[in-house]
Amino acid sequence: MLDVIQIPVLSDNYVYLARDEASGATAVVDPAVHQPVMDKLDELGWTLTHILNTHHHPDHVGGNMALKDKYGCTVVGARCDAERIPGIDVQVGEGETYDLGESTAKVFEVPGHTSGHIAYWFAGDNALFCGDTLFALGCGRLFEGTPDQMWTSLSKFLDLPGDTRIFCAHEYTQANAAFALSVEPGNDALVRRSAEIDRMRADGIPTVPSTIGVELATNPFLRPGSANLQETIGMTGQDLVAVFAETRRRKDNF
Ligand code: ZN
Ligand code: FE
Repeated sequence: MLDVIQIPVLSDNYVYLARDEASGATAVVDPAVHQPVMDKLDELGWTLTHILNTHHHPDHVGGNMALKDKYGCTVVGARCDAERIPGIDVQVGEGETYDLGESTAKVFEVPGHTSGHIAYWFAGDNALFCGDTLFALGCGRLFEGTPDQMWTSLSKFLDLPGDTRIFCAHEYTQANAAFALSVEPGNDALVRRSAEIDRMRADGIPTVPSTIGVELATNPFLRPGSANLQETIGMTGQDLVAVFAETRRRKDNF
């Protein structure tokens, strides 16, 4: 079993500790900063054995070297982006697995937000660490990829079990909900979820993790086939990549 601890850092980042209970192997996923991670490890009485990076942005690798210096942990990241991952020791790519103790992660290459973005899926624990690719009610900005690439990347998540937990790297959900409602106002599940998100944020409760099932029902970036979405943005009957691209373009300007 994988024990997952969520650490809010900076203005809206989430860093995760993932500990394989059987072996005690403990990873931090996308350490934006080092001190809050060290503090949490001390509080829990855990030691760090691994860093799992999804992509090279500073708010995902900023703590790598200080953590590696202190704990001598193994840094895991994308083979296709190895030169941009500080301290990388182990390079992984599409379809490969990486064992954190007795918990196994399958790696997806998910270019779009960055060219070398990867995600880690712990199937046995229904946990997906997807960085800035999929967010609760949103998806990452396309800094280094095309809509076609990003749709292909997101499509890798569509068939995961519905109860797969989505451990994304930012708390962007409330703003994402406002946009989602603007493009799919007729989605009752989205309307209900949006109200729930407002209540949670008013109480300071994280809206992350979400699940694949909830995202499939409410996230416009996973729903380019939705008739209501297509109608609202004036793209009825268009192909999925074109609808996704227009949805992403509108979000950039929202
Ligand atoms: Zn990023
Ligand atoms: Fe980020």
